[in-house]
Amino acid sequence: MTPMERIRKLMESGSFRFTKSLGQNFLTDDNILEKLVWAAGISKEDAVIEIGPGAGTVTEKLLQAAGPVLAVEIDKALIPFLKETLGDYSNLTLWHEDVLKAPLLEWIQTHSPGKPVKVVGNLPYYVTTPIIMKLLEDGLPIHTMVFMVQKEVALRMAASPGTKDYSALSVAVQVYCQVEKAFDVSANVFIPKPKVDSAVVRLRRHETPPAEIEDPKLFFTLVKAAFGQRRKTLSNALSTLRPKEEKPQIIKLLREANIDPVRRGETLNIQEFANITHLWKKTFPYNTMEPDKK
Ligand code: SAM
Repeated sequence: MTPMERIRKLMESGSFRFTKSLGQNFLTDDNILEKLVWAAGISKEDAVIEIGPGAGTVTEKLLQAAGPVLAVEIDKALIPFLKETLGDYSNLTLWHEDVLKAPLLEWIQTHSPGKPVKVVGNLPYYVTTPIIMKLLEDGLPIHTMVFMVQKEVALRMAASPGTKDYSALSVAVQVYCQVEKAFDVSANVFIPKPKVDSAVVRLRRHETPPAEIEDPKLFFTLVKAAFGQRRKTLSNALSTLRPKEEKPQIIKLLREANIDPVRRGETLNIQEFANITHLWKKTFPYNTMEPDKK
């Protein structure tokens, strides 16, 4: 079945209607589907998790190329169709779940013990960042992730310090992974057609992380504060996390980290954020994140 035939068959089944709020834009181009699976470098050796199978177009390619495949779909209306059309593949596990709540580690431990999995998905736009952050922060044994996302999000994930797209998301993703934008995808290859173009990104876990982060929670608080007010100097942006009178200590710790306090947060690399985290913890060992009540 071509992707379009599959989507048409789903629509003719009568039980499904596109739900905009679930980010349902289905891929219709077989070539893009092939490229998505190819970008993840999948072989029969790999266990793969697919987020949001939709009509099952990507899923079918994965089932043909990979070892065990877990497809996690939130929309109940899609489950009978997926079962009916893909149920003959013995390597498929299909879950009707919100991926943000699904016990992925349990599946990994059963189907890929001791070996990291790959994750693939044409992600629903409304929840792209929470999904990626959850997969990263939960420390799941993941080797590679290949995601179709909004082009703008792909650019943010892959951006370098000091560029306009560099953001808290760039830092968060790059702490864990090497990020590459694989290819762009036109809005015309989706049904319904989204308002924005997409891109495929490949995220590969670092073998050696770019910096040692001793307190990830504090690290991300500082990163978010630094990017929170883009036009502010770093010392002003970070001062929002502490009572006013402690600003001199913040300036001192930035100097100690060899960072000019008038720099903007968006010019800092991961190592510099890690250095600030280390010194912040030493400077404010208690009640580290008392927000400023100005
Ligand atoms: N993979 C299909 C394709 O490429 O044509 C569908 C992609 S569509 C952009 C996103 C899919 O994710 C939809 O099927 C949607 O119902 C599903 N979805 C949305 N939120 C989800 C969540 N929190 N957990 C699991 N699936 C979700």
